[in-house]
Amino acid sequence: MNSPLAGKVAAVTGAASGIGLECAKTLHRAGAKVVLVDRDGEKLAKLVADIGENAYALQIDLLKPAEVSGMLDGILKLAGGLDIFHANAGAYIGGPVAEGDPDVWDRVLNLNINAAFRSVHAVLPHMIAQKSGDILFTSSIAGVVPVIWEPIYTASKFAVQAFVHTTRRQVAQHGVRVGAVLPGPVVTALLDDWPKAKMDEALANGSLMQPIEVAEAILFMVTRSKNVTVRDLVILPNSVDL
Ligand code: NAD
Repeated sequence: MNSPLAGKVAAVTGAASGIGLECAKTLHRAGAKVVLVDRDGEKLAKLVADIGENAYALQIDLLKPAEVSGMLDGILKLAGGLDIFHANAGAYIGGPVAEGDPDVWDRVLNLNINAAFRSVHAVLPHMIAQKSGDILFTSSIAGVVPVIWEPIYTASKFAVQAFVHTTRRQVAQHGVRVGAVLPGPVVTALLDDWPKAKMDEALANGSLMQPIEVAEAILFMVTRSKNVTVRDLVILPNSVDL
């Protein structure tokens, strides 16, 4: 069996569902020990039991800074190291600004921006000390192309892209790579809030992807040779043009 990640440890946030779950399974199939991080502990326990040996559950609410600070310790205790950190957890909100609920925006912005940045802050010193590591974000196509009906979500992913670009430059000298995958729409629970008409249209014209497509991009990013420079990967369905 091909195990390019044998001997490596990967941690994925938001791994109890959708893209994060598929990424954790894909990295595990590639030979890595995987730590699935999520706030939904019950779901995590079942998932790691299904994945089997070398899969661990770490229940963390990323909106609680004290829990995020303890994340590295938790990962090291469970899996004995950390080579790949995938900051994947995120939430979606669409709709017109004038009709929006700023309390809901706060939750989305806190998760997509603050919690993601805090989690990288928690794991980076370990990677810098070992002089190697991969940090990847699940960003979004909305991180490079403003999506008019998603102002808050778009703002959050533009912030992610700014963080990725600046942090990448800061840590490259320490042997740590920082990158992002930027998917178009993927069929997950995140799209539950999409208006039905929009979902029907997307399904009819083939403009939705599956989580495995994002997972394969993540696998490519973390297994590519040091000589191959790929900073970020935009992944779009075939029927969508920019
Ligand atoms: P999802 O809703 O299926 O999964 C999100 C996971 O995050 C869930 O398991 C949830 O329990 C977890 N989570 C939420 N709040 C948390 C918290 N406070 N602490 C810990 N875990 C928490 O969504 P998904 O589509 O798999 O989204 C994953 C990432 O992909 C997000 O960053 C999203 O912005 C991005 N993305 C999704 C799409 C899409 O169309 N689905 C497209 C582009 C980018």
